[in-house]
Amino acid sequence: MKFFMPTQVISETDCIAKHAEKLASLGSHALIVTGNRSSKLNGSLDDVISALSEYSVSYTVFDKVEENPSVETVMSARDMGIECGADFVIGIGGGSPLDAAKAVALMIRNNEKSWEFLYEAADSSALPLAAVPTTCGTGSEVTGVAVLTRHDLKTKVSAKHKIFPDIAFIDGKYLLSAPKKIIVNTAIDALSHLIESAVNTLADTYSDMSVFAGLKEWAECRRYIEGESELTSAAAMKLMNASALAGMSIAQTGTTIPHSLSYMLTYGAGIPHGAAVGAFQGKYLKYADAERRKAVLDAIGFGDTYELGAYISKLAPVAAERELLERSAESVMKNTAKLALCPYKIDEKIMEDMIDLS
Ligand code: NAP
Ligand code: ZN
Repeated sequence: MKFFMPTQVISETDCIAKHAEKLASLGSHALIVTGNRSSKLNGSLDDVISALSEYSVSYTVFDKVEENPSVETVMSARDMGIECGADFVIGIGGGSPLDAAKAVALMIRNNEKSWEFLYEAADSSALPLAAVPTTCGTGSEVTGVAVLTRHDLKTKVSAKHKIFPDIAFIDGKYLLSAPKKIIVNTAIDALSHLIESAVNTLADTYSDMSVFAGLKEWAECRRYIEGESELTSAAAMKLMNASALAGMSIAQTGTTIPHSLSYMLTYGAGIPHGAAVGAFQGKYLKYADAERRKAVLDAIGFGDTYELGAYISKLAPVAAERELLERSAESVMKNTAKLALCPYKIDEKIMEDMIDLS
């Protein structure tokens, strides 16, 4: 058994202002890596800039991270970071800017390397890194994973290096202004991480600790996810914590079949990550060991996997061409590393059932 989670997690309202010295102590010039809009509107970018300014730490902002960031974007941000002399990186946003920030921190530290280095197995020495999540889905602030779009391969592929942020600043207030659709899609991503970590050959007592704590937080937010109640500050904090706990879980076990099936759907049909992974959760759990299946369903208040699948597809419907689903299934059936993480054997019949989204 092992449990590795080297990120310091600071989770409370106004945590950046309250712990500004921790952020400022990471270096003398920050490259802030973020998307083009939301971090300016939800206050997270201002909070980071105020904290740095309080300690006279200079910064440069790269605000061109797109959804499902590409290797090309990482390399542009890397160039900017080298030019401005950045000695640490701060990622602000959803999983896209956070994943990009990890890859940028790696590539600035290894500035003589070309982009292919991202996909070489090597010791991962990266610049110090802080992460400020503003969605409640990926848990990227506490994982070593950076998922990047590879236009050359027409899909998304994670970098080989494990780059954990040094500090994660988790504050639910950034979620309060997010559109419902983003909250729903990302909350389904967090749930998917918890399910795929629970039903995983690497699951053990330690990963279950974060899985079941995360499922409990998630279940307590159902009425907000379902849109029955307006999101409160307390619920936003809970959703963020569920997402971080889910991230800690996949940091131990990895994601498995549903995530692998999703990548081509996102690349080929533009389906948001959370919806694309959520589409396969009911069926993935259906074939799990009966006791484990019941433990997961009980934790989130569902009677059976059909009910869970119908619930997810109502909140985040996915319409994908049959041909795309088949192509994705075909590539997953060849992915022996991912198949090995699934505790039951995926044969043609089970895969056929999983990709049947009707
Ligand atoms: P995202 O792609 O980071 O962002 C989606 C959209 O949400 C963007 O338009 C973004 O706007 C907006 N947004 C972000 N925070 C907001 C807020 N508080 N209020 C309003 N709008 C907001 O979404 P995500 O689902 O969090 O991340 C998905 C990415 O993470 C995928 O590439 C996926 O593969 C990856 N992922 C990584 C891991 C991991 O362990 N590292 C795990 C799962 C998924 P702006 O562009 O303006 O910021
Ligand atoms: Zn995910």
